[in-house]
Amino acid sequence: MAWETTIGLEVHIQLKTNSKLFSTASTVYGADPNTQACSLDLGLPGLLPVANQKAIDMAVRFGLSVAANIDQCSFFSRKHYWYPDLPKGYQITQHSRPIIKNGQLPISLSNGETRFINIERAHLEEDAGKLLHHGFHGNAAVDFNRAGTALLEIVSAPELHSPEEAVAYLKTLHRLVRYLDICDGNMQEGSFRCDVNVSIRPTGQTELGTRTETKNLNSFRFVERAIIYEVQRQIALTKQNEPIHQETRLFNPDTGKTYTLRSKEDAEDYAYFPDPDLLPITITDSSIAQEKEKLPELPWVKQARFIKDHHLNPDDAQILTAQRATADYFEETLQYCQADEQLVAHWIIGELFAALHKAHLSINNSPINPQQLAKLLNRLHDTTISNKIAKIVFEAVWNGKGDPDAIIEEKGLQQITDNSLLERCINELFARSEPQIAEYKAGNKKVFTYFVGQIMKATQGKANPAQVNLLLREKLRELYT
Ligand code: MN
Repeated sequence: MAWETTIGLEVHIQLKTNSKLFSTASTVYGADPNTQACSLDLGLPGLLPVANQKAIDMAVRFGLSVAANIDQCSFFSRKHYWYPDLPKGYQITQHSRPIIKNGQLPISLSNGETRFINIERAHLEEDAGKLLHHGFHGNAAVDFNRAGTALLEIVSAPELHSPEEAVAYLKTLHRLVRYLDICDGNMQEGSFRCDVNVSIRPTGQTELGTRTETKNLNSFRFVERAIIYEVQRQIALTKQNEPIHQETRLFNPDTGKTYTLRSKEDAEDYAYFPDPDLLPITITDSSIAQEKEKLPELPWVKQARFIKDHHLNPDDAQILTAQRATADYFEETLQYCQADEQLVAHWIIGELFAALHKAHLSINNSPINPQQLAKLLNRLHDTTISNKIAKIVFEAVWNGKGDPDAIIEEKGLQQITDNSLLERCINELFARSEPQIAEYKAGNKKVFTYFVGQIMKATQGKANPAQVNLLLREKLRELYT
């Protein structure tokens, strides 16, 4: 029997607010445990929550970017459950009236196809604390620093059908929220984490199968592996006539398997009701207009423009638009550069990325700025320097030796284009290369590469390779006749 997989994704993004969703406590990552939780975050009585306007604005900005409906009068509800990391005994979230409804995210698949995935809703909610398992005497401790941090939970429609589509959706969303500057996207620190709902059904069946939810995946690779495992597990169960239970599961990266955490609660188990301590979230037309102004060029629009206007291939366009800073760097370099776009792209993706990676630097902290790179590439473009020398100049600029033109001048790195000088080099080479010349005459054309190499070596890479080729051929012909 053929099976169809259905996947729906719930992504929790941590919004880039300085303070929490309902309190003024700081949200900086990595502080000592329980130093960033105020009485409100700890669920102590006597304080009232106040919604963070920045978080609301960011949710609106996200909604606009995916062409969703913004609910101008949504509200917060209490979701009741008991867990040691939730001191109030309920989480403040949104239930029946989420702030964002019905958006669409365009995803590109490896076959070149673009699909629009529906976003059913996105709602604001607070994060819980974090359990730390110390290992002595089986004890656990709770760090409430994260309690109350502002999250936006983004829920896709169940219309993804393969691990590839799920990962494409997540990567598109990940890039988007960083473009919008509403989330730092740091997956290791938990700023972008994903719950995966998976079900299977025989191909052709309209009704969806029973789904399981695998929670808190913080890497694209884990999402992919968890889905592959879940699909296999559910198919195996069905073939043995065993039921699939609706439940919450966890993925273990060490074993590659998912295992049961708890049986799934239904909405009524949480006894949702509107939080009486909070006013409805009212959003004015003017605040929507303000957020609209803050919208950057969206990543998929930028990527398409790079292909069309900068004549880049899709892979390069994708890499250069992965982050706004990279795309800006590329376009700024172009402003000062006469070399073609592909060459600029090639140098950023190749030389610059390798150097940044090696030095553990982000492009924002690149020791070479776009103007310097452009100057360097201009000298390569006008054949003042060869590709090999360009790499030497790159390194010198990187190491703070100054302006590319000054470095070329000072070190005498200009290409040798003087024919008489090159001819002298060739004559010297031939004078000590009788055996190789004999081989060449005997028909071994490979020796030619050897000659080119020797000349480049003698000129410390400064000869123009095309010119060397031409002169060498001429000289060899002379030897024949
Ligand atoms: Mn949630």
